[in-house]
Amino acid sequence: MKTIYLSLGSNQGNREAYLQEAIDRLSQARVSVLRISSVYETEPQDFPDQPWFLNLVLEGSTELFPMQLLSRIQAIEAELGRSRRIPKGPRTIDIDILLFGRFVVDAPRLVIPHPRLHQRRFVLEPLAEIAPELRHPVFRKSMRELLEGTKDQAVRKSAFRPALPGA
Ligand code: AMP
Repeated sequence: MKTIYLSLGSNQGNREAYLQEAIDRLSQARVSVLRISSVYETEPQDFPDQPWFLNLVLEGSTELFPMQLLSRIQAIEAELGRSRRIPKGPRTIDIDILLFGRFVVDAPRLVIPHPRLHQRRFVLEPLAEIAPELRHPVFRKSMRELLEGTKDQAVRKSAFRPALPGA
């Protein structure tokens, strides 16, 4: 069993419902969802002319291998209607693998730790909330330290609290 951290984001349609549905589907895809951060409303980054995102980070455990997990995640994104028409554009659901135990993976389709994890406040804010002392396996800094070094991006807590599957 490996402990994993996933980032989930949505900025299209019923964002709360897409986040909850993705969490439920992950738990049906051999990912035990252990903890879910607060949900944050965040300013779009790379392509600014689009609605704000809802973002969260979840901690889970899985017996899947990293590439198997990527396939499950991409299947869930496809089922929930994600289209890739505009790169970095609006999406019903985006799921990224942030960390997978202490694995370092550098494959054409999969890079772990996620290559932009250490730069993104919309990822580090929820990740540092649930795992502040967790260390980045490459940069060796804690999530709290990485968060302190990120440039400003508007991020505010949303009132929405997704349910843990089976709770
Ligand atoms: P995006 O459109 O931002 O969801 O990026 C998806 C692409 O990133 C896919 O082609 C994946 O194969 C690739 N990718 C590389 N590393 C990761 C990762 N750690 N988690 C999710 N997707 C990844």
